[in-house]
Order: sequence, then structure tokens, then C-alpha cells
Amino acid sequence: MILALLLAVDAALQPFVKFDAPALVLEHARVIDGTGAPPRDDQTLFIANGKLASQAAAGAQRIDLTGRTVLPGLVGMHDHLFYPAGGGVFHEMATSFPRLYLAAGVTTIRTTGSIEPYTDIEIKRDVDRGVVPGPKIWITGPYLEGEIPWTQQMHRLHGAAEFRRTVDYWADQGATSFKLYNFLKLDELSAAVDQAHKRRLKITGHLCSVGFTEAARAGIDNLEHGLWVDTEFYSKKKPGECAAREALAETAELSATDPRLEALTQELVKRHVAVTSTLPVFDALAEAGFRRALSPAVLEALSTDTRARLLSNHLGGRSQETVVKMNKLEMAWERAFVKAGGTLLAGCDPTGNGAVLAGYGDQRGVELLVEAGFTPLEALRIASWNGAQFLGQEQRIGSIAPGKDADLVVVKGDPSKEISDIEKVEVVFKDGVGYDPQKLVDSVRGLVGTR
Ligand SMILES: [Zn+2]
Repeated sequence: MILALLLAVDAALQPFVKFDAPALVLEHARVIDGTGAPPRDDQTLFIANGKLASQAAAGAQRIDLTGRTVLPGLVGMHDHLFYPAGGGVFHEMATSFPRLYLAAGVTTIRTTGSIEPYTDIEIKRDVDRGVVPGPKIWITGPYLEGEIPWTQQMHRLHGAAEFRRTVDYWADQGATSFKLYNFLKLDELSAAVDQAHKRRLKITGHLCSVGFTEAARAGIDNLEHGLWVDTEFYSKKKPGECAAREALAETAELSATDPRLEALTQELVKRHVAVTSTLPVFDALAEAGFRRALSPAVLEALSTDTRARLLSNHLGGRSQETVVKMNKLEMAWERAFVKAGGTLLAGCDPTGNGAVLAGYGDQRGVELLVEAGFTPLEALRIASWNGAQFLGQEQRIGSIAPGKDADLVVVKGDPSKEISDIEKVEVVFKDGVGYDPQKLVDSVRGLVGTR
């Protein structure tokens, strides 16, 4: 009786809930456990009090999952709560994005850079209190950035001391990781890395003025996006200067077997620097990828204004030739990085030209990893188990085993054979509560771009 009371889902969540019995038995399911192990057919999973159990609890509700596959909830490692409005302005998607992540089976996110850090923190609190639907949220502080010329929504920091103070302040508010950005000096990066580590927190970067090798040597834990944003191979690179477009044009011409890329790979592996794959945001910069990203479901999620803006101006004057070459190189390098022993994480990065949305983008990311040459099981491991390990949460999430949180995705079909089956989500369990993806999606139709 007491347990049932504790587990009762708040009235605010009830409209989105399919199953909220304190004990469940999932029968006849194919299980992909997230560790890379082969799928197992006709399995029985037990859920009790929000956790996976090794046997059925008395009075458990039974669910027949014949023809379905159960996966661990995805762990989105570049999953912002904001979205570009154009012109260097970003809007917080406080209503739509938490629901879209959950609906797609993303049960944990790292925000990986925040535009409204206080809003992100309050969203997390409300999700944790069980009064708004959403994934488990790991808060990254506000962007640690210097003199960025193209947006006023990042506070411009100056000097090592200010970077340190900012890390300290947001660590006190509840940030559990940090992200360095484009226009900063190496001594500022080093100071922020040191301060984050003093607080026992990890720090990542979407860098530009500082190259990957320099950042790895300065002790950064993680690098976002991969080669796409590494400027160190630019022939006219000046220390501390960000020349993103010029660098990209040259990097795209590198051969995947270039010894400089191999040296970078070795450096990152040796120093245990993880890389976050964000293939969806880059794929959508190419004509074909853009069209694929704007699926009927994505178009329905967008507000009228946002849809019109996207359809009228999507490729942003970038050379299609460069984008296509760079995407190929990025995919080849990510494969080589993993082959050499590197840790690859995955996230959707719902920014860029706006074609990548929370949740849908994460599913696309897994599909693109398969397109890059990973097996479906490897891609799913990157998108679940690797993220859980990096967050230090591998005892609780990221794979399917007794004792862990019951964070599960039930899909129709078999993603180990046809990876796009991860889009056929029927139920998403978070802490044992089964959410209805369609109801979550329906509740935010037309909202993306607005709230
Ligand atoms: Zn990002």
C-alpha cells in the first residue's frame, strides 16, 4: 500500500502514461541490452518499484511483447534544451523538448551547453519531482565563451579568473559538467579545465580557437562534434584565433588515412578524451540529409513560422561539396577513433539550421552511425552504454540488467537487423513508468520554435 502510494504518478503526468503498475512483467520480448551483446529472443523482463528485477513481484501486470524489441533508454550526450530562432538568437524549448526526448526513447540527456541555465535547472527539478514529463537531465553550465561576435546570448568572459569564477558559481547551482566554446584563449581553457576538475566535474568543448591536440594536452575530458570543428589542420592557423570556415574547407580535403589524423586519434585515446558524435546536425546541412531530417513528424512538431523559415533558407550558403566531403571524412574518422580504442558518445545537437529536433535527431544519430559503418549493436551501445559510463552512471542506466533503473524503450520490429525500427517506439519506460510516445508528441504539435 505504501509502495503503491509512493509510485502513484502525479496527475500532471497521467495523460501521458500507458503503464504505471508498481510491478510489471514484459513477456516474449527480443532484448538488445545496450552493451553490444547479441540480441536475445523471447525474453522475460521484470520491473518492480521502478527497477529491473530478477523475478516477478506478486500481482505484477503482464505485457505481451511478441514482435517487439526492448532497448535501454538512450543517453543523449549533446542534447540541448534550446533551439535556434535564427540571427544568433536561441529559444528555450522548455515545454516541447523534454517531451520529445522522452517520446523518442531518450531517457537521459546531458544538456552540453546552456543558453538559459536557470531554466534548465528548474526543468530538471520539475522532471525529478515528477510534475513534468521528460528525461533524466544532467545539467551543463552556461557556455564558457570569450568574445563571440554572432550571438548575445552567451555571456562573454575575459581572463582565466573569470572562467574559474563562472565554473564555481554554476557548480554551486547544480551544473555537473561544463562546455567551452569557440572564442577563447588556451590559458582560459586550461583554467576552466582545472577549476572543473577541482570540483570533480567533467568539461567538454566545441572548440575553434584552440585545436583538439592542445585541448587534450590541457586535460579536457571530451570534445564535441569531431573533426568538423577541429581547426588545427588549417595551414594558416594562428594560436588563439578561430577561423572556422577556412579551416573546414581545408580539413574536408584530408584523406581519412592522413597520418596527422592518426596522430590526433592516438593522442585522444592515450589521454582518454571522449568524442561526442553529432552526425545529425551535419547531415542536415547537406541537401539530402536536410530532406530526410524534415520527416512528416518533424514538420508537424514545428511552429508555422519556424517551418516557413526552415523551408525557405536551410543550407545557409555553405558549399555543398565541402559539407558532403566533410561528412564522409567525419564518419570514417569516428570509425577509426573507436577502432583505436577511443570512447565515442552520441547526441543530436538540435541547433544548426533547425532541421534537427530533440528525440528525432537522436534516433537519426544512431541511424547515421550505422551508415558510417558501425553495426546496429555498436551504434546502440554508443548511444546508451557509452554515455552512461561517461556520466559515471553505469550502475543505474545505459544497459538492461537486474537492479538497474527500468529505463527501457519498446519498439516494433528488430533494430539489430533494421536500424530504422528504433523510430517505431511504442512505449518508453522511465523508472518503471511507461509513457505513451504518441501522446507526448501530440501534446507539443506546432510548438517547436516557440516553446
Ligand atoms: Zn551544441
